[in-house]
Amino acid sequence: MTPPIPFLRPNPPRLSDALDQLRALEDSGVFSNFGPVNTNFERRIVETCFGGVGAALTVCNATIGLMLAIRACMREGPGRRYALMPSFTFAATAHAAIWAGLEPLFCDIDPQTWLPCAASEDELIRRHRDGIAVIVPYATFGAVLDLDRYRALAEAGLPVVVDAAASLGTVTRDGQGFGAGCPLPVIFSMHVTKTFAATEGGLIYSADPALIERLRVMSNFGFGEPRSATMPGLNGKLSEIGALYALLKLDGLEAVVARRAALHAEYIRQCPGLDFQHPTAARQAHQFVPALFRPGDGERAGEVRAAMRAAGIGVANYFMPHLAEQPYFAGFAARAELPVTRDVSRRCLSLPLFDGMSEAELGRVCEMLDSALRHHRG
Ligand SMILES: *Cc1c(COP(=O)(O)O)cnc(C)c1O
Repeated sequence: MTPPIPFLRPNPPRLSDALDQLRALEDSGVFSNFGPVNTNFERRIVETCFGGVGAALTVCNATIGLMLAIRACMREGPGRRYALMPSFTFAATAHAAIWAGLEPLFCDIDPQTWLPCAASEDELIRRHRDGIAVIVPYATFGAVLDLDRYRALAEAGLPVVVDAAASLGTVTRDGQGFGAGCPLPVIFSMHVTKTFAATEGGLIYSADPALIERLRVMSNFGFGEPRSATMPGLNGKLSEIGALYALLKLDGLEAVVARRAALHAEYIRQCPGLDFQHPTAARQAHQFVPALFRPGDGERAGEVRAAMRAAGIGVANYFMPHLAEQPYFAGFAARAELPVTRDVSRRCLSLPLFDGMSEAELGRVCEMLDSALRHHRG
């Protein structure tokens, strides 16, 4: 029996290989509250990923980061209750908006890039202009969003918070880390299942240091004055141990993103029977390998996924069900027509990807997929 191939194999830095840094952390007596390790990480990531422009704030996870940024940026006023977002995203995006007292308003996605569809967003903006408190586009699976479009919307009075949870490590065609130079808050996850695997953690980047400072205060109980709340707050801080994981992960990031990109390209070569996400980045940080069954094979998607799992190959289907289909979110009735989301969600197949994946393992996944597709086509 050949060994199983997991969907993901988390690869955070090994603290046991960093005993000197761990001891220094313990000896410092500082374990949280933006200590020296955290400060060093925030400075270094701005230098290495964002061209030294702007500022970054760590948070304990990206969901809390989204909650903070939505709360800080949303436009308040009578009737402003919607957070415009794609239905094709992870539950955290909608939860964060609901925690800020808003209702998700779901738009459709582009059939090639699976990013929020501009026409669908524009249609909802026309219909609900005075009801929108914030727009939360998602940089789907680490792809690159058109940030100029969202900056223009923000300048026109519709605040934008960017969910870039999977994009830490993505390089744009301008040769910059995704988000670099953008004054909107861009929220990244450092969860162990993301490319930038640092156990738990999140990062908020903005080219506007004043916004980052405000979010820092909010993430520390809203204490704008010593032990005195001056604005809405919660505890969103990352521990020094969490920051050490992040700092160590930064060292190997180039190699990890490059390896994953090479494996992704190999999947495309070996799986001519599937459709893949249309590229938007010079180099995308691939979290796993999302693909689509061809329309004719869509009917058999469930059986093929089951056959893969039975053969010991970990597959998933991000995002099925999409948000508007999930019981808790389905109650929020306002949404666009979602034909593309529906179709992409029905046909999606997420294939395994991890830093240490071998060519042989990738070959086995593609062979198994090919044989399952043939078998179920009958
Ligand atoms: C992973 C993810 C999140 C949540 O990140 P955490 O750090 O686990 O809170 C939010 N949005 C999207 C789209 C994600 O993929």
